[in-house]
Amino acid sequence: MSQIPRTKENLKKCLCMKCPTYTFMCKMKNMPRNMVAMMRDIGKVDRMEAMFCAFGKSKCITDEKGCICMTCALFREYNLDKAYYCLGGKAPKM
Ligand code: SF4
Ligand code: SF4
Repeated sequence: MSQIPRTKENLKKCLCMKCPTYTFMCKMKNMPRNMVAMMRDIGKVDRMEAMFCAFGKSKCITDEKGCICMTCALFREYNLDKAYYCLGGKAPKM
């Protein structure tokens, strides 16, 4: 398993925004942060409330309501094997 590169190309593949666990409230609350991050080089951003397998735990999401990571292209590309990266933290380094 490899660490997920924090690139805009990878971010486009992330399905977290469509996930039931990522609540409407959290999406609204984090929209400004995510917008600012997307205008920058996301490889240099410490935290984003998206692509949790690369950026680590959410500071907003608290409850498991289903995880769709296993249907994400990055899940296959990087041989991920877990769910709920928003709650459990990012995919580990090799
Ligand atoms: S594997 Fe999950 S956390 Fe990672 S980019 Fe895909 S949907 Fe987002
Ligand atoms: S890591 Fe999984 S559970 Fe969390 S928001 Fe992304 S798809 Fe949903």
